[in-house]
Amino acid sequence: MASLHDDISEMHLLLGIIHNVDVGLVVLDREHRIKIWNHFMWNHSGINPSTLTDRNLFESFPELPEQWLKKKLDTVFLLNNRSFSSWQQRPYIMKFNSYNPITGRSETMYQNMTIFPLMGVSGQTEYVCLMIYDATDAAMDEQALEAANSELDRLGRTDGLTGLLNRRAWEECLHNEYKRFARSRQNATLVMFDIDHFKKVNDTYGHQAGDEVIRQVARQLQESKREVDIGGRYGGEEFCVILLDTDSQGGELFAERLRKAVAALTFDWEGQKFQCTISLGISQLTPEQPAPGTWLEQADKALYQSKEGGRNRTTIYLD
Ligand code: GH3
Ligand code: MG
Ligand code: MG
Repeated sequence: MASLHDDISEMHLLLGIIHNVDVGLVVLDREHRIKIWNHFMWNHSGINPSTLTDRNLFESFPELPEQWLKKKLDTVFLLNNRSFSSWQQRPYIMKFNSYNPITGRSETMYQNMTIFPLMGVSGQTEYVCLMIYDATDAAMDEQALEAANSELDRLGRTDGLTGLLNRRAWEECLHNEYKRFARSRQNATLVMFDIDHFKKVNDTYGHQAGDEVIRQVARQLQESKREVDIGGRYGGEEFCVILLDTDSQGGELFAERLRKAVAALTFDWEGQKFQCTISLGISQLTPEQPAPGTWLEQADKALYQSKEGGRNRTTIYLD
């Protein structure tokens, strides 16, 4: 048989739980007056529950997203259902500092929230309880995972030696630009180029010297092109770049500038000085090219003509 004494000690137990549990608990009535503000909320807000009792939540905390939260509270009162909010939707409900010494990664506590209805003695939903969870660890883990994934993605698209796009990623861009052209008809010009007599560099100075030449030619490409232009390492000592908003004449100006810049480089490998040249081929994107591969082939053919014509030169593809 439950005695008054039992009821009071049960109440004590419940209060102990409410205040010690490691989640925020806030109980509100229909007028959004604060009935319970547990120790978690006290600790993180620094506001003593005794100063909040029966005060309106939104008047006490004007920084709360009032419209959004009121709508949620109304729904819980009306439908007698639970309502949720996750940190992905809204990083926090109430701005608390994140003190977690292990996490130590975020200044603000990410929060999930559940709102559930509470029945009064009348059997009606007279109150709602907001349960606020610290989701900082989960949020940080997920953000770290996203950062790692995007870094992996970047690495998967990048050529290790030069930092340019690798062939697969660059070919993806080639396809995209080809498709974009079908819609926009905005000029685009492809320049392919290849280091002349590169085998001789490797044979004379060694593979590492060859790598250094590839790196420096790539850097020259990066410095010559605009940021929006799409540069890639197509193969060993073969490079490609899509020049946006550029016709073949503009492509030729670019190609000649790059050719001269490479020819002006002096490599110094263990005291031995040498120079290198490149041969280039240019093809402007036209509506007649049936596939992106044709665009590429035409630039490659022009490059071949530059090689045939004596190297260290630029050729524009002509039908
Ligand atoms: P051409 O003027 O006709 O282009 O002559 P080439 O000697 O440059 O052309 P070829 O295609 O015969 O030789 C390319 C050489 O590039 C062969 C290959 O061993 C070398 N190579 C390919 N990739 C790399 C690389 O990443 N590093 C180095 N050091 N050499 C590479
Ligand atoms: Mg070569
Ligand atoms: Mg080659």
